[in-house]
Amino acid sequence: MTLPTPDPADAARPEDISYQAIATVLNSLDALVYVADMQTHDLIFFNDYGRNYWGAPGGRKCWQVLQKGQTGPCSFCTNPQLVDDDGNPTGPLVWEFQNTANKHWYQCRDQAIRWIDGRLVRMEIATDITDRKEMEQALKAAKAEAEKLADTDELTGLNNRRAFFNLSNQVISQALRTGEPVAVIMFDLDHFKQVNDRWGHAAGDTVLRGMAATAQRTVRDSDILARLGGEEFAILLPATDLPKARYLAQRLQQAFSSQIFPVADGTVRCTASFGIAASTAREITLDDLLRQADKALFRAKEAGRNRVDSRC
Ligand code: GH3
Ligand code: MG
Ligand code: MG
Repeated sequence: MTLPTPDPADAARPEDISYQAIATVLNSLDALVYVADMQTHDLIFFNDYGRNYWGAPGGRKCWQVLQKGQTGPCSFCTNPQLVDDDGNPTGPLVWEFQNTANKHWYQCRDQAIRWIDGRLVRMEIATDITDRKEMEQALKAAKAEAEKLADTDELTGLNNRRAFFNLSNQVISQALRTGEPVAVIMFDLDHFKQVNDRWGHAAGDTVLRGMAATAQRTVRDSDILARLGGEEFAILLPATDLPKARYLAQRLQQAFSSQIFPVADGTVRCTASFGIAASTAREITLDDLLRQADKALFRAKEAGRNRVDSRC
């Protein structure tokens, strides 16, 4: 009869009563406890919690038992952090980690200690924190979603007024440092009240969404396009001077005036008027730019609408 090869992880004097008392405690813990040789990674102790989740060690190394797809010690092994330059233990290291085999999250307390035979071993106590981690991740996602909603105009999906001011002020601070020009385009849909009055509010909403989408397609990724409210929009253009801003506004004006929106009993066309301002000095502020652009927009309306005004 051949006896099964003893598992090194079971080899520590099981007949010893004090060993059994300690093992009973460690095996009753609701946490993984293991000890592995720091040089060879052989498992010297592996408690029942570990065996329930990862199976019997069977003479294998920690990275073979505990992790998935490892062909050698793990790249994230904390052993190097558990000893100082002279190889002496530095105390416990607490970290959080998603196990590659069962995908659970653990809080791990790792420590280098001297084993009973004098060699340095790694001891780990790992508690399952998956529930907490999932809750944290759900909260993080909910926070990101809430922040996005707080910055987004519900009807058009564009930046709202709040986001426009936050983002634009960041761009202007940067422009003040680099000395690059900044321009603002404000535009307001022409006779939009008539669209609502004639075709109804829902048709008005369709036109607003369509014009916002056209504007979004026309601006550059770095431009900050926002619906400031009602049928009034603004674009902050980083690294842009007045002629370039005028060119973009003219492209928008043409795109809007050639757009036709089908509604219940016909089609709607809607134009917009544009006012532009660009920074000339280093002391420029967002308020100044918006005030100048608003004046220019007013002049464009007065001059008959569906046009661009960029006089400063
Ligand atoms: P002007 O060319 O002088 O800008 O004329 P206007 O009719 O566009 O300007 P006015 O300020 O008189 O009217 C703006 C209209 O925009 C009135 C308001 O009901 C409409 N409006 C504002 N917000 C919305 C919205 O979210 N949806 C719809 N459908 N209409 C809106
Ligand atoms: Mg209007
Ligand atoms: Mg208006």
